[in-house]
Amino acid sequence: MVHISSGDLFRQHQERGTALGLEAQAYMRKGRLVPDEITIAMVIGKLLSLDGGQGYLLDGFPRNVVQAEALDEKLQDKELAVQRVLYLRVPEEETIRRLSKRLVCRRCQDVYHLDNSPPKVPGVCDQCGGELYRREDDRPEALAERLRVYHSQTAPLVDYYRKQGRLVEVNGLDGVEEVHARLVKALQCDGGIA
Ligand code: AMP
Repeated sequence: MVHISSGDLFRQHQERGTALGLEAQAYMRKGRLVPDEITIAMVIGKLLSLDGGQGYLLDGFPRNVVQAEALDEKLQDKELAVQRVLYLRVPEEETIRRLSKRLVCRRCQDVYHLDNSPPKVPGVCDQCGGELYRREDDRPEALAERLRVYHSQTAPLVDYYRKQGRLVEVNGLDGVEEVHARLVKALQCDGGIA
């Protein structure tokens, strides 16, 4: 499957200094959502550019009901329609612990954690040798705003997809290997709790 992360797409635009990247930056710094119109056009454009028959994994999109409805509407008649939605359950303290010690590669976007999965050489990506940095929006003030936005705008999607029978719940606690195994199982399951 092709991994399509809306946050990565915005960060790539910022690295390239595009107008879209600049526009998104102001929202991202504060931990707010980038306006729907911009985000929807960017993600749908990426989905429609996939080769026929290619599967995809959306990450970070949709973030609210308007985006979810746009996704369904735009992909309605295509083979691309969303089949499963994975709901990774993690307590809020754990989310904060993970994000506040997260490092990301500037070049390939690979993700590390200072305690749980540190890079072999400090500050350097194991995969591509790129520079690791702390995301500006992983700092405490932006993180608090992102959690607030999550509860008000994104959490309602759990019910939205549960009602449609597309939601699969996955326990996101434990290490990378265990959660990975649960996610693989969840993709083979018809809905409910994996
Ligand atoms: P992420 O990498 O998924 O944590 O996203 C980082 C930031 O990019 C978010 O806090 C938002 O500012 C912006 N962003 C990513 N995905 C979306 C989305 N689906 N809708 C609006 N803003 C988004």
